[in-house]
Amino acid sequence: MDTRHLLSDQDEPDKVQENFIVNKEVGPTAPPAYEVTHLTGNNAGAGKVLPTSYTDNPVPSTGAHAPHWEIPSISEELAREALAEYVASRCCYSRKPAKEMVFSDLHALNTYRYCLDTFTESRTTEWASEPYCGQVLEAPGAVALGPWDLPVPIPAMFQDGQKDVRMPHSSSVKGCNQCMTLGKSPCNKCITSGRVQCGRCHGSGRDQQGGSEHRCSDCRGSGLVKCRVCSGVGSLQCPICQGKGQLLCFLKLTVKWKNHSSVHVVDKRSGFPVEMLQEVAGEMLFTDMNQRVYPVESFPDGAVNTASKRAVQEHHSQFSTTCRILQQRQTIELIPVTRVHFTWREKTHIYFVYGAEHKVYAKDYPAKCCCVIA
Ligand SMILES: [Zn+2]
Ligand SMILES: [Zn+2]
Ligand SMILES: [Zn+2]
Repeated sequence: MDTRHLLSDQDEPDKVQENFIVNKEVGPTAPPAYEVTHLTGNNAGAGKVLPTSYTDNPVPSTGAHAPHWEIPSISEELAREALAEYVASRCCYSRKPAKEMVFSDLHALNTYRYCLDTFTESRTTEWASEPYCGQVLEAPGAVALGPWDLPVPIPAMFQDGQKDVRMPHSSSVKGCNQCMTLGKSPCNKCITSGRVQCGRCHGSGRDQQGGSEHRCSDCRGSGLVKCRVCSGVGSLQCPICQGKGQLLCFLKLTVKWKNHSSVHVVDKRSGFPVEMLQEVAGEMLFTDMNQRVYPVESFPDGAVNTASKRAVQEHHSQFSTTCRILQQRQTIELIPVTRVHFTWREKTHIYFVYGAEHKVYAKDYPAKCCCVIA
């Protein structure tokens, strides 16, 4: 299958954008003042544009107060299996304690992982230009749109992305400042003459060869050769307007999408390093998605409510004034953690089994080196 057919029309503008020449590189090429006056309010001119204010108010969610979320600790069988697997994966751990240990207690220390995702869109504008090749401009006098009035489809929710768009009715044609609208610039190497001093005879036209003097064969006695920089033309094509002499100036809108995540794992202070719970899988208890979410208030574990309140507030103060919040998503996951107490050779030890994957954390495993175990 020819994959070229899979490219949508949306791919095309991006290709064109690669040829954009941003004004800051080419000096003062801002469009005439009348173009700017079309743009109103905080939408005027170039720069970062602030989002328009919201009218929606987040509504409290009703799903986060189910009271029966405690799950029991894992079985002794599972605890032994998990430890045996863990020990087998480490060459210097003896299997004896895992086989011979006697369980004294399995204590459920299940904890919660709260996550808030805020998906934002920000918009900036700057004047840009490209060589004018006779493109048809929008009807004069048409009302210009503000940066936030232009609908730009979101490629994917909660995924970072960026797109450049030309603002409608912002285009105008103006002469290229770089070349004074000539489309070409003088060649500095030959100072527009198209010829430079001959390198062989250094301009004398005579060449010393075999002790006698001859006419120089490179310049045929003239002392000058064709300039290689401009191929003898005396000028070069203007790189800014690519020889057109005119530029199409327009307001380039850059739309950026970004997902911001805050994760909080409730620390039950059980001796287990809570940061190890960031990566394991949990069981999804609650999902809430809205343009703006309301902090979770009635979850049985107060630490989750506190984390939610703080994250929602932080995201609001961080993003609501500088970007547009498109969507928020908050989730609560239950992460199973079991603290296992066992005795082996008359001493007690503990280890933890955590995550849906039943990972093991056994910092004080009693027989870490097989060499010392009989
Ligand atoms: Zn010469
Ligand atoms: Zn030249
Ligand atoms: Zn030019």
